[in-house]
Amino acid sequence: MSRKLTVVLSQAPGKNPAKRGLEESLAAALIMEPGVDVSIVPNLYDMGPDHTGRMFLESVPGDMVVLSWLFPRAAFWLLDRDGIKGQFGITLLKPPADDEEEKEKEKPLEGIGATGTIPDRHIYTLDLRDFNKAEPYVNEIRRIIAEATERIRQKAIDKAVANPVMISLGLPSKNGHAEPTIALPMFNADDLLAPANRRWYPVIDYNRCTNCLECLDFCLFGVYGVDSFDRILTENQDQCKKGCPACSRVCPQTAIMFPEYKTPTIAGADVGAIGGLKIDLSKLFGGGDTVDALTAAVAERDRELVADGRDAVGLAVGIPKRQTGKSQQPKDDLDRLVDDLDLLGL
Ligand code: SF4
Ligand code: SF4
Repeated sequence: MSRKLTVVLSQAPGKNPAKRGLEESLAAALIMEPGVDVSIVPNLYDMGPDHTGRMFLESVPGDMVVLSWLFPRAAFWLLDRDGIKGQFGITLLKPPADDEEEKEKEKPLEGIGATGTIPDRHIYTLDLRDFNKAEPYVNEIRRIIAEATERIRQKAIDKAVANPVMISLGLPSKNGHAEPTIALPMFNADDLLAPANRRWYPVIDYNRCTNCLECLDFCLFGVYGVDSFDRILTENQDQCKKGCPACSRVCPQTAIMFPEYKTPTIAGADVGAIGGLKIDLSKLFGGGDTVDALTAAVAERDRELVADGRDAVGLAVGIPKRQTGKSQQPKDDLDRLVDDLDLLGL
């Protein structure tokens, strides 16, 4: 007996009719798909620990596909921070403009990796901004079902080879998503979709984060802390200042994401190739005199301090040596890219 693949559709905040239209057509198509259990929740980023949609996500035991209006990297690490952990499921779904030819080879990731034990399951995060119709997503979900089934079958074969007695008990079927049946807790669809208040907080990509703790020193609002292994974490998410992305600009690994910020690099777009960008946007758009990343970050932090009735501190507090000299140096590709995209309001 096998159970279905869990697919979670995370709604866009607000009531954008085009986005709602895609969500509805996708839900209608997925309900008809054999091998899929589809559930709809509000915007992933907004659901707090007490939201039924979040509890549902926490209860899903096996492979899962999450469709949201967020970059895949941001959605994956957001879930990880909420304790919804798994291996990163690689999607073959690429937006039409995503031209692999234009990218440099990705640099190997140097981060400390996810905290704790990672369950033996995959979480695939698909970005609903990539296509404006349901079909590509449905096709990709069919492919994922086949991939997941094959992975589970292969594991069972490996186990059976190691323990030949199991072969007589039978191997999982090639049809359907072959995971053992586990009774899932029942959730009311209306509760899953209960409105969630808008939130704003940083999400850390631990495949990039090297635990340098510069963000901990830089943020003066108590958002960051360390866990029992002295690893950085966003301890008090809701103490972050709405709209402020300051610490993402000082992170040397571009590991800090604000999934709903206007600039894609800060919102969690794939930054693997940024170190070796072929296209220099600063030349293309003449952004050579723009404010550098550190100056922008300090100004944003000062603005929030003053709004809180505190004194601005400028460069006097929480600026590591590496960053202090940085504004005096020529900007690197990442600084220029962030500056230019900010100027463009993308
Ligand atoms: S500044 Fe970036 S790399 Fe350093 S601890 Fe914070 S998130 Fe990790
Ligand atoms: S964005 Fe500002 S308030 Fe939020 S964590 Fe970063 S520095 Fe702190």
